[in-house]
Amino acid sequence: MQENKTDFGFARIRTEDKTRRVSALFSSVAANYDLMNDLMSLGLHRLWKRQALHISHVRRGSCVLDVAGGTGDMARLYLARMGGQGRVVVSDVNQAMLHQGRDRSLDLGISAGLDYVQANAESLPFANYSFDCICMAFGLRNVSDKPAALLSMYEKLKFGGTVIIVEFSTVAVPVLRRLYDLYSFKLIPMLGKFIAKDEASYRYLVESIRMHPDQETVSAMMEAAGFCRVEYFNLSGGIVAIHRGYKL
Ligand code: SAM
Repeated sequence: MQENKTDFGFARIRTEDKTRRVSALFSSVAANYDLMNDLMSLGLHRLWKRQALHISHVRRGSCVLDVAGGTGDMARLYLARMGGQGRVVVSDVNQAMLHQGRDRSLDLGISAGLDYVQANAESLPFANYSFDCICMAFGLRNVSDKPAALLSMYEKLKFGGTVIIVEFSTVAVPVLRRLYDLYSFKLIPMLGKFIAKDEASYRYLVESIRMHPDQETVSAMMEAAGFCRVEYFNLSGGIVAIHRGYKL
């Protein structure tokens, strides 16, 4: 019988092992995650996340789910946009990332309206039709069963709700792609080695970006899960794409 395998960076592993290995990796990087994000993206991830907020139709009183929310950057942006009148649930498979995010929010004096739930994106433990907006930033490529995660998000969204998927994607411009490859495969593992003392995890992060499906494929997967009017917006030449869809 053929074994059910999936990618883990450039390696092939058993599908049932991926969530555990990805979670272990994020336990290892959690303490340095925010610093490394700023260094690796030269601060650009803040702009990408603001752009995602900008197109997500979130307003006062909205109920938002931040899937694979990690240290809660998106969640805090949503809360600020709602002016304290609304609720954001940060869910993530990894407890260390959630703890980092909770501590960061508390340090910033933010606690009202924020909830944390440890959960696998493939089977979100919420009632159907619960959220006005569901966002997943830089999480989808880490999930073992992406169609299951998209379907679970679809189920938890209210009719009329918006889904936002932010992910590293495929760079269309050849010159930019060559520079980006050089930067990703040479510099990022070095930063991981010297700053986070964890070269292997940052090598995985780079490899997982290359293995992630391109913009058109992710759009087709979202449509297959049931989302309507799916479109995407390339940022920084396609280094990142924001996908948006609706439950209608
Ligand atoms: N959304 C945050 C951000 O934009 O900074 C964190 C992104 S981080 C690159 C990816 C996150 O996905 C990690 O916190 C990791 O624990 C989480 N993750 C990985 N696999 C997951 C899964 N199957 N279900 C839920 N979260 C998952």
